[in-house]
Amino acid sequence: MPTRAGSGTDPSFQPLSTRKRNPMSTHATRRIFLMTLSSAATTFGLEALAQTQLEEKDPQAMSLGYVTDATKADAKKFPKYAAGQDCSNCVLYQGKQADASGGCPLFGARQVAGKGWCSAWVRKG
Ligand code: SF4
Repeated sequence: MPTRAGSGTDPSFQPLSTRKRNPMSTHATRRIFLMTLSSAATTFGLEALAQTQLEEKDPQAMSLGYVTDATKADAKKFPKYAAGQDCSNCVLYQGKQADASGGCPLFGARQVAGKGWCSAWVRKG
């Protein structure tokens, strides 16, 4: 006659209260899961933020006369502008010269256009 699990005749039966605790307890597993989730969110969150393009309408961008196309720089308002200046040849540009966009410390994690320009431009090199 088959025995029911947990009955007194099943030699492999152990009441819950006497079982050895698994070192990877539910709490540890949950903690690892949350740490992984947090790490992933941070990574992807920063990555998404880093890929945000600076918009010309941004108040800080407007105050510096930032344009995504240097040829559209307001030369009357910013007489320092000269043809050939753009973010890709500015000392503050953090992308490679051929990159379509890259970082600029003036605008935090947002990307500026390689062909962009602002009045803080300083020749690289
Ligand atoms: Fe572009 Fe240089 Fe102005 Fe930054 S400081 S937005 S890299 S021109």
